[in-house]
Parts: sequence; C-alpha cells; structure tokens
Amino acid sequence: MAEDTIFHKIIRREIPAEVVYEDDDLIAFRDIMPQAPVHVLFVPKETVATLNDLPADRPEIIGRLAVAAARYAKEQGFAEDGYRIVMNCNRHAGQTVFQLHLHLLAGAQLGRFGTPV
Ligand code: 5GP
Repeated sequence: MAEDTIFHKIIRREIPAEVVYEDDDLIAFRDIMPQAPVHVLFVPKETVATLNDLPADRPEIIGRLAVAAARYAKEQGFAEDGYRIVMNCNRHAGQTVFQLHLHLLAGAQLGRFGTPV
C-alpha cells in the first residue's frame, strides 16, 4: 500500500513501540531517536501524509493531537516548565515519515528554535 508507513505498522502493532497513549483517533509513542529527555510522537490513525494533505474541513485531526500532547504534559508534570511541539512538512523541514505526526519535546531547556540556513 503506497500510503503505508512505519507509523501505520506501529498503529497495527506489527512493529513494537513504547506506546504512552492511545484512543480511537490517535496513538502516542516514544521516538526511537529522542532529541530531548522526553520525545513523544502523536500520530492520527487516519491516513494524512503531510500537513499539506490535511483536509480543510478536518482541523480536528490536528486539534486532537495538540489536546492529547498538552494533557500528557500536564499528567507527566512538565506542563508548567514547558515543552515544544513540532510538525515537519516535506523536505526542507526534514520530514522522514509521511504520516502526519506531532513531536512533543520536553524535559530540559531546549535550544533556540530554528537553525539559520
Ligand atoms: P520526521 O522527521 O518525519 O518529522 O519525524 C519522524 C520521527 O520518527 C523521527 O524523529 C524518527 O526518529 C522517528 N522514527 C522513525 N522510525 C521510527 C520507529 O520505527 N519507531 C519510533 N518509535 N520512532 C521512529
């Protein structure tokens, strides 16, 4: 299936992942190459390759990811200290997995966002 990615395989439990949250609409699991002490990926179960492919009438797909990430931050006790959410789109942002996902980075002082080109 052209739209099948490693994240679809994680959703179907065909490959293992450290899942921290799941509901009918999304799954959240630890990034295999963490870029911060806390690095969790929030992924919709509905197939959406990139932000460019998000249907204009379905903003809730991203809204649910954001709500789940903020709730996780509060539950884990780092919401007040803060965190960063990132969504990479296509090659200039370095997107490598073409199923929409929101990165949650936390657990330490993060570097300044955005590297000059
Ligand atoms: P992107 O670069 O597309 O924004 O982010 C993809 C992320 O997925 C990367 O941070 C990468 O480390 C992570 N990743 C890639 N393959 C796997 C995997 O098999 N398992 C997990 N847990 N994370 C993965």
